[in-house]
Amino acid sequence: MTHPAQPKASHFINGEYVEDTGGTPIPVIYAYSGEQIATVYAATPAIVDAALESAKAGQKIWAKMSGTERGRVLRRAADIMRERNYDLSVLETYDTGKPMQETLVADATSGADALEYFGGLAGSLTGEHIPMGEDWVYTIREALGVCVGIGAWNYPTQIACWKGAPALACGNSMVFKPSETTPLCALKVAEILFEAGLPAGVYNVVQGMGEVGGALVTDPRVDKVSLTGSVPTGKKVYAAAAADMKHVTMELGGKSPMIVFDDADIDNAVGGAINGNFYSSGQVCSNGTRVFVQKGIKEKFLARLAERVGNAVLGDPMDEATSFGPMVTQNQMDIVMGYVEKGKAEGARLICGGKRADMDGFFIEPTVFADVTDDMTIAREEIFGPVMSVLDFDTEEEVVARANDTEFGLSAGVFTKDFTRAHRVIGNLEAGSCFINSYNDAPVEAPFGGVKASGVGRENSKEAIKHFSQVKSVYVRMGDVEAAF
Ligand code: NDP
Repeated sequence: MTHPAQPKASHFINGEYVEDTGGTPIPVIYAYSGEQIATVYAATPAIVDAALESAKAGQKIWAKMSGTERGRVLRRAADIMRERNYDLSVLETYDTGKPMQETLVADATSGADALEYFGGLAGSLTGEHIPMGEDWVYTIREALGVCVGIGAWNYPTQIACWKGAPALACGNSMVFKPSETTPLCALKVAEILFEAGLPAGVYNVVQGMGEVGGALVTDPRVDKVSLTGSVPTGKKVYAAAAADMKHVTMELGGKSPMIVFDDADIDNAVGGAINGNFYSSGQVCSNGTRVFVQKGIKEKFLARLAERVGNAVLGDPMDEATSFGPMVTQNQMDIVMGYVEKGKAEGARLICGGKRADMDGFFIEPTVFADVTDDMTIAREEIFGPVMSVLDFDTEEEVVARANDTEFGLSAGVFTKDFTRAHRVIGNLEAGSCFINSYNDAPVEAPFGGVKASGVGRENSKEAIKHFSQVKSVYVRMGDVEAAF
């Protein structure tokens, strides 16, 4: 019997599901059972071509509609996503292995927020009027054209919406390529957008590995590339896009610092460290995986942390009581276990976890290492799994310098009751998305993105509009033209 997660076809092009079994088969494995629940086929060159042609034609129709009309479609899609939240959450859980306790509140809901927010903005995306004496300049905020979205596997619904909603609000069309690991959810996003009234061709989904992504990025019909992925992939994609002067947004990895001062509320800081390391089993780009704790409260912090981590409920992701799911794939589990072994070998002190859970599925126990030093591999490289490194510090000046000593710059957090210090420290940290007495909040109203190797551009908020549109300026002369000859 066909599994309910099996999509109608692999791709969604020009307003309908399209199949081409000539592409490489991509098995979809459910991370909890290890069972193959679906198969999709990587896009052949003909599929890539059809998606780009339909996006090119669809964009022209879409850009001619008023912003209010475009916004209405996006807001309708948001409503449908909310109505179907349960089913979409089940699919997200099948795609990623993340527990329903999370997917019910963080995926389709976050996608719907983006569609609603950018749908609301669409009607107000205007230029400005600049008086120049009796002459004037006016500006027009124009769409870029065809945008390519390429997603990572940790938030397949959310990423498809976070890229699609602002792109479409501005009058662009999109070809979205999900990660080969999680190909299912973006198809549902496309289906819902069309049900909400999106013209054919405006949002297309094609499947495939990096090769398909590469073909999209280098195609001359494409005007902009928005990637969520690792820094090495980001460097390749950015370079390929630059060859044709394409616009880019790069949402890449991190090794973000979370700093806990002696005066912090310990339970809040522990809660922040748990949210910033173990949500989605640690498969979150903005995680605060280097937790710097001031020496005075270190042992108290570690004791409370170990106690609370012990309350994690590992189990069937479909059971809403489960609060901690498996890694997305066996491969990711093996990579993360490699880091755990390195942590032990390099002399970090294991506080809890440190091994695979004794159960089916790609589970790794939530793991905390203490006495981690700056030079250890687990403190330098992005692990993308449930492995927290706790490092000690003495002074504010010292911790800021150590926190910034990394190629990454996605997020940073500080826990303290001293607000002057909180703002000063955040001001001195090299990171794009920051938190005070909190960690990993990502509402659509707030800009999201990194500095340094963690990225270029911003998603969400009004900032995203700047990255999916361009400004044309028009000088209007009322009098005669003066010329030298
Ligand atoms: P990857 O960088 O491996 O892949 C990202 C996407 O790019 C995938 O769809 C991948 O396809 C595709 N891709 C790979 N090579 C190319 C290429 N040469 N040209 C075009 N596309 C290509 O990342 P993961 O999927 O492993 O995701 C984890 C990473 O994503 C982590 O580093 C994480 O920090 C980052 N991330 C960043 C976020 C942010 O907003 N800053 C949010 C979430 C994750 P395929 O996988 O099918 O080969």
